[in-house]
This record gives sequence, C-alpha cells and structure tokens, in this order.
Amino acid sequence: MPLPPGLELSAAGDDNRPVRQLVRDFTAKHVMPVAADLDASPRFPAEIYREMAKAGLFGITVPEELGGAGARALDYLHVMEGLSFGYASVADQCGLVELVGTLLTKHGTPDQQREFLGPLLRADRFCAYALTEAGAGSDLRGVSTRARPDGDGWILDGEKVFIHNAPVADFATVLARTGDSYSVFLVDLDANGVSRTYREHKMGQRASQVGGLAFESVRLPAGALLGGLGEGFTLMTSVLARGRLGISGLSLGISRAAITAATEQAETRTAFGRPIGANQGVAFPIADAAAEYRAAFLLAEDAARRLDQGQEDAAAACSMAKLYASEACVRHADMAVQVFGGSGYIQGYLPERLYRDARITRIYEGTSEIQRLIISRWLMDTRGGTR
Ligand SMILES: Cc1cc2nc3c(=O)[nH]c(=O)nc-3n(C[C@H](O)[C@H](O)[C@H](O)COP(=O)(O)OP(=O)(O)OC[C@H]3O[C@@H](n4cnc5c(N)ncnc54)[C@H](O)[C@@H]3O)c2cc1C
Repeated sequence: MPLPPGLELSAAGDDNRPVRQLVRDFTAKHVMPVAADLDASPRFPAEIYREMAKAGLFGITVPEELGGAGARALDYLHVMEGLSFGYASVADQCGLVELVGTLLTKHGTPDQQREFLGPLLRADRFCAYALTEAGAGSDLRGVSTRARPDGDGWILDGEKVFIHNAPVADFATVLARTGDSYSVFLVDLDANGVSRTYREHKMGQRASQVGGLAFESVRLPAGALLGGLGEGFTLMTSVLARGRLGISGLSLGISRAAITAATEQAETRTAFGRPIGANQGVAFPIADAAAEYRAAFLLAEDAARRLDQGQEDAAAACSMAKLYASEACVRHADMAVQVFGGSGYIQGYLPERLYRDARITRIYEGTSEIQRLIISRWLMDTRGGTR
C-alpha cells in the first residue's frame, strides 16, 4: 500500500532519512507480506528478528563498540514507527531489545555485556523484561518475588505474569525484592527451578508471545546481579522514558497504517454512485486523524530530542508522547474500521487487526492513567513546567 505523501514527516531533517529508508525497505520486504499470517496463526517469527539483527535494527541506541547501531533516540523513534506500520508485534520485539540492551549498556559489567548483550543484539539469544506480578502492575512496590543471599550468590523465588517473550526467551531481567529494597537479576531461563507457566491468548499483537514465569529456589551466581544491590527501581527508571518513546513510535505506525488504509478505501469504494470519500462524513475523520498523527509525531520527536540531549524534562516529555500517540492510535484504528464499513470488522481486512493491535498501547509500558500521574506530578513539582 503506498504511503500518502501528505503523511511524510520531514521535521526530523535529512540526517535521519537513511534510517527511515532502511526501515521502510525492511518492513516492505520482511514484515508486510507476513503480518496477516502471523496474526492468524500466532507464532514467534524468529527468522524476522534474525534479519532485523543483521540489518542493524536491534540496539539502535546501543554504542557501536558494544554491537549496537550507535544511533539516537530520534532514530529509534522512526524505526519503531516504520516497523509498526508493517506489524506492531515486530516493532514490539525491537522495543524490548532496546530496553534490555540499554539496561545492559548502562549497568552491565563487561562480563554481563559479553554474555548477554552481544548475543541479544545478534538475535542469538532472546530476552524478557520481567517486572509485573499478579499483585504488582502499575504499583511495583507490590513485587513479592524475592532473592535471598546464598553463599556468594542468590536464591530466587516468585512468579511473574504478562511477560513479553516469556514462552520463548533465553534469559530475563527480573525485578526482585532483596530485603527491604529491590534489585534486578539476569536469569538464565533454562536454569533449574525456572518454569514457563502459561502462554496468554491475547486480543492483538498476537505474534508477541506473552506468558508467565515461575522461579522455585533458582540458584543465581553472584554475577547475576545487574547494577548495585538495592538499585532495582533506579535501574528501571533509567530506561522507562526510552521504553515509552518506543511505544509512542509503535502507536504512530499503527496510526499511519490506519490512515493509509482508510484513505485508499475512501478513494476506491463507491456508494450512491460516487467514492465514499466524496462525503465529508467519511473524509473529515480521516483529515482529523492525519492532523493528529502529525501532532503526535512532532510531540514524540521533541521528546526524543530531549532524551538525546539528556534534558531534565525528558521523562515527562516521553510520557506525554506515549499518552498522546497511544490514545490517538486507538481512535485512528476505530476510524479506519468505520470507513471500511462491514469489512472493517472482518478478519483478513487490515482495520480489524489494527483495531485489536492498537488497544494494548494504552496499557503496557505504564497505562495512560500512570502517564497522566507522571505528567501532573512533574507539572506540580516544577510549578507549571517553567523551572
Ligand atoms: C500484552 C502485554 C504485554 C506485557 N508485557 C510486559 C512485560 O514484558 N514485562 C512486564 O513486566 N509487564 C508486562 N505487561 C504488564 C503491564 O505492564 C501491566 O499490565 C500494566 O502496567 C498495568 O498493570 P496491571 O495490569 O496490574 O493493572 P493495574 O495496575 O491493576 O491497573 C488497573 C487500572 O487501574 C488504573 N490505575 C492504577 N493505579 C492508578 C492510579 N494511581 N491512578 C489512576 N489510575 C490507576 C490503571 O491505569 C488501570 O486502568 C504486559 C501486559 C500485557 C497485557
């Protein structure tokens, strides 16, 4: 499906045109032809991820000397948007690798980087990022997974739910209680005492494998501790903004796919002797969506620049970008269903999948309500953001 030229954003400038072209070509060749099949018979498309690794689409902001692309958060945003235009699940894998790759880059020892980061970026080993538990989602202070010292290592007990890649990952970064504080551990998922408890059947993004992990007296070596003891929340906070920026890109890709499909349908489907798009009732919602898409993209690019420059308000800016883009993409997918009429509700037509794929963007990486909490607290702390 051709990209409506009107949706092309140039605000990022020419310097990231090669990245946009790379991801556009990759998506057209490797993602779009298989997206509908992956949705219908959800499986883990390892072969696509190996191609992504070869193309340099894993670890976009990880320095080149550690095996990444050494690019900016701004480029990462565009990669997420471009992949998600083809299929959100594929973008989500890129986002997960970016998150865990950034954690290992910022906090990993050289040994941990050798053991986990290199194989992760080459797609030789797949990862999971395991925070959530049955009693701890938005409020992670409810985490009850516990690591207690044992000799020079640790013993891990607990259970995680809703974990992306849990059914297929080779290792996980696991948030656990260590006494009164929290720490992050690198856990080999083939170790004794680890089980993959179940695989979820989800509404959308169905090629993303999500499930549970249980840890029963899992012996961890001393080198499993990532960062300092008791620094679990600091570690997580250090990557949250980047994760949210990524989801804003993923949401934008869904929006563009919805707007593109709706535009084509408005031009080609006829009713009452003329294209349906000749009716303002059909055309204007598409126009509104296009304006929102551009606004969301500019907001996200602004957040990416603040992240790249290490500005103090980058985290709040990324929360704004995620909030706005995710809420918008759910509206845009709904708009596309409406423009398609009955076929928009039928499996095999793109809007039906986009509608299901969009909905989770308002929930994971912090719900919309949690983003509003972060933004409003930041506003109050900085007295209107003027400090
Ligand atoms: C497909 C999928 C993939 C996921 N992948 C991962 C993963 O890889 N790793 C991982 O660790 N987790 C993952 N999660 C978990 C996800 O991050 C959580 O589901 C999410 O953070 C919300 O937590 P919860 O489900 O416990 O909802 P709750 O925290 O119970 O929230 C329920 C509702 O209450 C609202 N709420 C809660 N507190 C407040 C408040 N203070 N003010 C206003 N409203 C509030 C929430 O916004 C929400 O609407 C995934 C979830 C899904 C569905």
